[in-house]
Amino acid sequence: MFRMRVVRALLVGCAAFLLTSGVGAAANFTPGSAGLGDPFFPNAGNGGYDVANYDLKLAYDPATDVLVGQAVVTATATQDLSRFNLDLRGFQISRLTVNGAAAAFARDGQELVITPQTGIPSGSNFSVAVDYSGVPEVIVDPDQSIEGWIPTDDGAFVVNEPQGSPGWYPCNDNPRDKATFDFAVTVPEGLTAMANGVLVSSTTTGGRTTWVWKETDPMSTYLATSTLGRFDLSITTMPNGLPVYVAIDPQLAKGQVLSKLVESVEFYTGLYGPYPFNAVGAIVDSAKFVGYSLETQTKPNFPYVPNEATLVHEIAHMWFGDSVTLTEWPDIWLNEGFATWSEWIWSEEQGNKSAAQWFKQLYNTPAQDSAFWNPPPAVPGTPQFLFNGTIYYRGGMTLQALREKVGDFTFNRILRDWATQNRYGNVTTPQFIAHAERISGQDLTAFFDAWLYQVGKPTSW
Ligand SMILES: [Zn+2]
Repeated sequence: MFRMRVVRALLVGCAAFLLTSGVGAAANFTPGSAGLGDPFFPNAGNGGYDVANYDLKLAYDPATDVLVGQAVVTATATQDLSRFNLDLRGFQISRLTVNGAAAAFARDGQELVITPQTGIPSGSNFSVAVDYSGVPEVIVDPDQSIEGWIPTDDGAFVVNEPQGSPGWYPCNDNPRDKATFDFAVTVPEGLTAMANGVLVSSTTTGGRTTWVWKETDPMSTYLATSTLGRFDLSITTMPNGLPVYVAIDPQLAKGQVLSKLVESVEFYTGLYGPYPFNAVGAIVDSAKFVGYSLETQTKPNFPYVPNEATLVHEIAHMWFGDSVTLTEWPDIWLNEGFATWSEWIWSEEQGNKSAAQWFKQLYNTPAQDSAFWNPPPAVPGTPQFLFNGTIYYRGGMTLQALREKVGDFTFNRILRDWATQNRYGNVTTPQFIAHAERISGQDLTAFFDAWLYQVGKPTSW
């Protein structure tokens, strides 16, 4: 963000260059790629630019299910762009501008193909404004779970892992392109709209309330939320002063388990290093049919009152998943294995079953139970196995086996340094292996190969 001023000067300079050198220069301007080549979702995300901020003004009326959006995407070109794409599913677009000038656009599946009046020089800052409206389409994943903007009895439950975001806002839908977010969500008076980061204001006029939220830390598109409905919202503060936002659907019994929220944040802070974000929270909705919880940044979404293990799992994701994020989706164990092990160490800390006991119990699963042991955590193979049990259990077991191999002291340093050194970044499995080898001073090639890459039950560690 600090580069913006320099970038704006560049834009002016390059525009002048274009004017004087005419067709010759324009010929070097090429389209940004339509996808970023993720092994599971190759068309998600787009090439040629890097998003700095999403400014989303949304209005939603549960009575009609119509979402009206005004999105401004601010980005920096990473090549000389003749045109570029955003990802957006459905909706009618009423107006689209680039740097304030009307731009041509076309739709092709989830690709919104935008051709500005003049090319955008590499390194220059630009903004795209998209006005859109319609009934959001709920997205069905390869594993048949639903995501995106999911209507509930009193609003919407909004979750996007891995590909729901284009179901409600235009974006560069790839976990690598992190950005800051501003939200202004307008709903009928009486409803509460939650989003990531800090609550700036809520203002009611003419029977409608606008909730303004600001996420100033970098966030991957899939971690954004705008869950809304009837909620009891409590705003408190952590002992260190961070705001804590807990929204609970009044239809639900107030979850006692949420009293563990602050304690779990403090526990993981002690273990993994400073909490990465500007707010803490939870959104507990009555939407059981969704079937899963999600670690939306700063405020995990729960479709029912979570049990303690689920609560702390999602909180641990703030370090592993949200701050330290996978680069490509097949590396999902870097999110889920870490969150699962975090459940076990919480249990151990509370004086309940230890991580070693969790490991032992799961390890007793016979090798013949191939559905338990496969696919290996770092090789899910196909997107329908992204959230398979083995990613969680065998991923968590990999970490516990590593703990037993290198000892508590070294293991703790491996996790803590991983969280600290890769804060707000993107990571890969080979990077984690190299990191663990560097800190432990051990050759862990065979260990990680057996636990992460090979089918079947690992036999040693
Ligand atoms: Zn998880």
